[in-house]
Amino acid sequence: MQQGNGSHKAPKAELWVNPDLRPASDALAQADISLADVEDAQARLARFAPLLVRLFPELAAAQGLIESALLPVSAQQAEQLLDLPARQAWGRLLVKADHDLPVAGSIKARGGIYEVLAYTERLALQHGLIQADGDYATLADAPARRVFERHTVSVGSTGNLGMSIGIMAAALGFKATVHMSAEAKQWKKDKLRSHGVQVIEHAGDYAAAVHTGRQAAQRDPLSHFVDDERSLTLFLGYSVAALRLRAQLAAQGIAADADHPLFVYLPCGVGGAPAGITFGLKQVFGDAVHCWFVEPTAAACFLTRMRHPDRPGISVYDAGMDNVTQADGLAVPVASELAYAQMRHLLSGVATAADATLFADLAALHDTAGLQVEPSAAAALSGPRMLLTEPAGVAYLRAHVPGERLACATHIVWSTGGRFVPRDEFEGFLARGRSVGRATG
Ligand SMILES: *Cc1c(COP(=O)(O)O)cnc(C)c1O
Repeated sequence: MQQGNGSHKAPKAELWVNPDLRPASDALAQADISLADVEDAQARLARFAPLLVRLFPELAAAQGLIESALLPVSAQQAEQLLDLPARQAWGRLLVKADHDLPVAGSIKARGGIYEVLAYTERLALQHGLIQADGDYATLADAPARRVFERHTVSVGSTGNLGMSIGIMAAALGFKATVHMSAEAKQWKKDKLRSHGVQVIEHAGDYAAAVHTGRQAAQRDPLSHFVDDERSLTLFLGYSVAALRLRAQLAAQGIAADADHPLFVYLPCGVGGAPAGITFGLKQVFGDAVHCWFVEPTAAACFLTRMRHPDRPGISVYDAGMDNVTQADGLAVPVASELAYAQMRHLLSGVATAADATLFADLAALHDTAGLQVEPSAAAALSGPRMLLTEPAGVAYLRAHVPGERLACATHIVWSTGGRFVPRDEFEGFLARGRSVGRATG
């Protein structure tokens, strides 16, 4: 707990606006990936849907798609959550409820599970276990499992990525190894071990756990390392969320276009998940969507990288932060270079939030809307609050959203994890959140 700890190193919360934001069409024309890659990933997930229903019966109703709801928030709830000074016409608020994603319980279900499936498909085709258009559900049968059990899937994680990779790899019959960094919560390790996953605990930070895991995997030809700092596969798995969100908005009759701006606020750790989703959203909605990342004040690695375009690999330690935060999913010292390169000209900006604010918002989301989110996920709420009130945010809105259009805006806070947090742990978060106020500085 960092409260009251005088040696804790974190700057004040702030909203940073990206001076290098470009029109989406320009920025996307430079990218080496395209909408076709996002659609390809979506098609791969569809091929695996029947297998997922077999492995996880709770996915039957959704026909094997791992997806979260897009929840409405009433105007009154929104005012309580955002704590805006006066009634302002700023549009409507929605919650993209990834905190409740089945199977993995966090946004990591999108990328992590996708990468395990992409590896599974490659192996299955190599070993003649399936035909390209065959029935993937047979990959739960003994012949496939005999192939998979000889292979290892491994990953370095602060917790949630390990859960998504470990749970899916173990369900398919792979050996699974998760390298956990120091901040990983005990219950996440316990849950993984209960699934038969090997958990290796590291005393160091997330970057160190990834490094060790990557090296160990290189020595083993029958292993696949999910590289959270470098994997394009992971990135594309996350990006599919944009196609799903487009369908959900359409189903709810919500427009997102030049006259109806869309603002999306995404908690950011290494950057892969929010960048993958932002890439997809920019492909789908172009300049109508404005994407903001939110990071803990002590672990703002993406903000640090965006501020220093000429310093690849710059860490939060270089910027005077100590990477100490209770937002374990976001406790990352160095941004993904892949995510940075994609976001350089697409991201509107980055907000940071102190841990006290995360806990206060965790409690507010529970007490106002009945949601169980983890501290990392609660970070998203700082996005709209700061955009709508901080001078830098107000100036951004004036420049990008002309006239009365803000009243027609949709703001989506992406609540990225929480489903599997044990109740007693959550009660502790809640008590802390109810007792602290949001940190204003
Ligand atoms: C991992 C994670 C994020 C951010 O994803 P990155 O790819 O690390 O940026 C956000 N919220 C939660 C709960 C997470 O576990």
